Amino acid sequence: MSICRVRDVVKRPDCIALSKVGRCTRLNIGKCKGEECTFKRTHKEEFNSIQHAYQRLANLDRSIQSHIAKKYYGGYMPWSKGNLLESMENIES
Ligand code: SF4
Repeated sequence: MSICRVRDVVKRPDCIALSKVGRCTRLNIGKCKGEECTFKRTHKEEFNSIQHAYQRLANLDRSIQSHIAKKYYGGYMPWSKGNLLESMENIES
């Protein structure tokens, strides 16, 4: 078990890949690089990126959407209007 000092916690960036114990879940490194990391992505950036992807998927032909849903989402379409809000709430939490 590692012990975090207060100054280590304060320096942590707002990054979607940062675990609760301060480890990076995106890169194969032991300790987070901090604010200067070029791979850092904030929760807001992640949310916007996924929202953009869902909008692009929603604009595809219905048969292509269905094919993608079956192949990658188990038949579920998180980008469809009824599911979009629920999907975004799951991403934010
Ligand atoms: S800032 Fe960089 S090193 Fe730190 S958690 Fe994010 S991606 Fe990993």
